[in-house]
Amino acid sequence: MNLKTKIHLFSTVLTLVILSMMNIGIYILFERMAFDTEYKQLNNEVDELIAALSKISNEADAATILRTYIPPNGGIRVIDSDEDLKLFVQTIDGVDEYYPRFKVGERYSIGAFQGTPILTISKPVIWVDGGVTEVQVMKILGDVEKNLDFLRLILLSVMIVGILLMTVSSVTLGKIITRPITKLINTMSQSRLSGTYEKIVVPPNGKDEMAQMGIAFNEMMERLEQNFKKQEQFVSDASHELKTPLTVIESYAKLLARHGFSNTAVAEESVQAIVNETARMKEMIEQMLLLAKSNEQSMRHFEKIDVFRLVETTLQSMRTAYNRHFILNGQGPIYANTDLEQLRQLLFIILDNARKYSEKEIITTILENEKGITISILDYGNGIPEKDLPHIFDRFYRVDEARNRKTGGTGLGMAIAKDIAMRLTAELKIESTVEVGTIIHIFIPNT
Ligand code: ATP
Ligand code: MG
Repeated sequence: MNLKTKIHLFSTVLTLVILSMMNIGIYILFERMAFDTEYKQLNNEVDELIAALSKISNEADAATILRTYIPPNGGIRVIDSDEDLKLFVQTIDGVDEYYPRFKVGERYSIGAFQGTPILTISKPVIWVDGGVTEVQVMKILGDVEKNLDFLRLILLSVMIVGILLMTVSSVTLGKIITRPITKLINTMSQSRLSGTYEKIVVPPNGKDEMAQMGIAFNEMMERLEQNFKKQEQFVSDASHELKTPLTVIESYAKLLARHGFSNTAVAEESVQAIVNETARMKEMIEQMLLLAKSNEQSMRHFEKIDVFRLVETTLQSMRTAYNRHFILNGQGPIYANTDLEQLRQLLFIILDNARKYSEKEIITTILENEKGITISILDYGNGIPEKDLPHIFDRFYRVDEARNRKTGGTGLGMAIAKDIAMRLTAELKIESTVEVGTIIHIFIPNT
């Protein structure tokens, strides 16, 4: 049974019970009042009759008096102490066949005469002959019956109209309550089917519980979506960032396997590089995990480092890994206050692009002035068209998918580079000419 039916059923039953109780109460009250009025009226008439009877002395007059006091629908019976009929007058045929039954100690009775209520009042009277008799005055309550019938009709109509109204209002109420719930259910199953995080339309200035439920639902969906995106981003970022260090480790390991054991210098360099890269990877993963959890952009560990030496060792790793010409211009040491691991990560991303999208040598230049340090990485590759430049930092954006297919990649590098640069408060600038080459400047301001 759905919610709408439950609301409907509950309110209908409730209305039925309340209306029935009310109507029965009204009916009983009215009936009692009507009989009460009739009783008082008849009782007065009987008293008057008895007073009139006490003033006469022969039986013929008595019959006349009885005829005068006879109710318009009814009759009067006089019986003696042996219950023998002394006299009977009636205005409706057949009343003489009716014998009232009195409860013990009661002087009145309400019975039925041909289906109509009939009221009888019985009182003792000293008869004209001096004997004690009993006068039974009977009155058929036709009007009361009619009124009660009419009341029954009215109460029944009230009940029917009430139930109809209640049905209409409960159906409307059911709709008002269940509509947003149905919307919610539909949205949820749609989200489940499509794998997206659908939201529901909430009335802009709705303040009731239903609107609040909608707002809470939308907020929950938003959170879920954010968490899902964060997770997804973590996984893709992690796999992107591990590619280069893994390639470096692999190449050093191969170098070690080829010559390492006979050449102590090579062996030392290789082992050291592998140890360094592994440590770096470990730290990088921890950092990314922390970032994914907290979304704190200011995760960084600043210290005074020799940038020149950092670039030199990074280039050395790239040379070993990809067997390409990586040239370094400039003179060290050049000190800066920055995060060593994150700057290295940034260099890796840009150097990786430079070697991927060019075939000639790659030239890195480090310059220092009073404002800060600029590391420029130049390649003579295919360049980036001007229309694509503004999108280079978007996640998953790749210039001309067909051209890039052979190089492989996900289009994440530059987006991550932008995040890292932001954390380091460094600036990235790209200059590129198609078919000539690209130069990317990393500017690290003095702090
Ligand atoms: P990923 O780095 O995720 O493996 P990717 O290298 O394609 O993939 P990004 O590093 O974000 O992604 O670079 C985005 C796009 O910018 C690249 O697809 C490429 O078209 C262009 N691009 C970036 N650097 C250069 C460059 N030095 N020369 C030419 N095009 C470049
Ligand atoms: Mg890249």
